[in-house]
Amino acid sequence: MRYLTVGAGAAGMSAAETIREIDPTGEILVYSAEPEGYYSRPALAYYLSREINKKSLFPRESADLLASRLTIRVGQITAILPDQKVVIDSANNRINYDKLLLATGAEAARPPIEGASLDGVVYLDSLAETEQIIRKSGRRKTAVVVGGGITALEIVEGLLSRKVRVHFLLRKEHYWGRVLDPSESGIILKRLEEEGVVIHRNTTLEKIIGKKGKVSGAVLSSGQTIGTDLVAFAIGVKPRRDLLETPGLKTQRGVLVNQYMQTSIKDIYAAGDTAEIYDQQTQSWVIDCLWPIARQQGAIAGKNMAGKKTPYLRRSPINVTRLSGLTTTIIGQVGSGDEDDEYSIVRGESESWQLMPDAVICQNDFEVNRLRLMVGREYLLGAVLMGDQSLSSILEELVVNQIPIGEIRDQLIEPGADLAGILVHFHEMRS
Ligand SMILES: Cc1cc2nc3c(=O)[nH]c(=O)nc-3n(C[C@H](O)[C@H](O)[C@H](O)COP(=O)(O)OP(=O)(O)OC[C@H]3O[C@@H](n4cnc5c(N)ncnc54)[C@H](O)[C@@H]3O)c2cc1C
Repeated sequence: MRYLTVGAGAAGMSAAETIREIDPTGEILVYSAEPEGYYSRPALAYYLSREINKKSLFPRESADLLASRLTIRVGQITAILPDQKVVIDSANNRINYDKLLLATGAEAARPPIEGASLDGVVYLDSLAETEQIIRKSGRRKTAVVVGGGITALEIVEGLLSRKVRVHFLLRKEHYWGRVLDPSESGIILKRLEEEGVVIHRNTTLEKIIGKKGKVSGAVLSSGQTIGTDLVAFAIGVKPRRDLLETPGLKTQRGVLVNQYMQTSIKDIYAAGDTAEIYDQQTQSWVIDCLWPIARQQGAIAGKNMAGKKTPYLRRSPINVTRLSGLTTTIIGQVGSGDEDDEYSIVRGESESWQLMPDAVICQNDFEVNRLRLMVGREYLLGAVLMGDQSLSSILEELVVNQIPIGEIRDQLIEPGADLAGILVHFHEMRS
């Protein structure tokens, strides 16, 4: 039996490792378009901000890879011939498979604006691109960062740590307005301003000016021109489409999969950022751009590929991340219903967060600490917790496991309620 995974990221490697646990003898080929193979994409932000070194990006030692007997090949797969059960690589080699996994991830959206192909336009998307940002940034330089969402903020913070003067362009008044409310956005932007970031609200980038093929300036919609040699975009991601034109493969934005991570073609599976899955809870097709979810989906795909039929049970997605130095938990449906953004999803985000549920919004603030709850009729449908994280695991349990909150619902929605106190007491009574 030959298993082939296209992609050596979170989903591809998780599938390969899971297959090996079930099938000790099958051949497992993992293709990576990047020479670096398997590394932590979320950790690129910490590499940029100098909090970790390059070695820490790699979650597996060579010995682990040897022990699991995976064959990792660097190469770009360019086509799939499902009738022949063959893939073709960029050197025109034909490679047979019995079971195939598409785990090619997502790629950063590239804006169609003048100057976008100049040297000095960068993305925090891959290890190679992160190293490009590092090479181009340095003390006393000026950079322009465009975007809203986790990655844009990570670029801003990474550049700040390298003593770069940063202009941050927001298309709207608030930062990441599809997911955060104005108060949460305000806390983050205030902290950035205190660190010297120049925030340009309701501003887009009109064009990038160049000199001898390199970025030399950025013209904003306000009419202002900023002299800079670095323009970073983090305006969203899209499932990588290279292989999505395969005849018979059903796709929308990504590859459609059922609960066994099977695509519309026999013996071809998909997982991770490239997969689009039907969510029973919200009755909608969703993409999650989250590392743990890519690992989980990869593991489920791997089990099914190796013959152990296992459904993927999608639960409310959670991320505990850092926004402008503040640890923040985002879980469930917390959106504002603001759908005006050009690109719909950013790295480290779930589309579910953008949904505005039928819920009463309750919130408490204390200095930079903030708690926002989306209180549904029977359950907590979502929550955002900034700063103090002591409630994080309680919220995760209540939202993910859909614990009935009938006993405390009236208390929670009472104006001025001590939300944390009520939740802690409820948790203690249940345990
Ligand atoms: C800067 C940054 C910050 C992030 N922050 C967070 C966060 O805070 N929390 C979180 O949960 N997630 C975060 N993410 C998202 C997370 O990294 C992704 O959701 C996850 O990596 C998706 O895994 P994947 O396996 O689907 O795709 P990827 O990890 O993108 O892997 C895709 C693989 O496919 C290979 N490939 C692509 N096309 C081909 C081809 N044609 N042939 C051969 N190989 C191919 C690539 O080389 C790569 O090995 C972040 C990502 C970035 C970049």
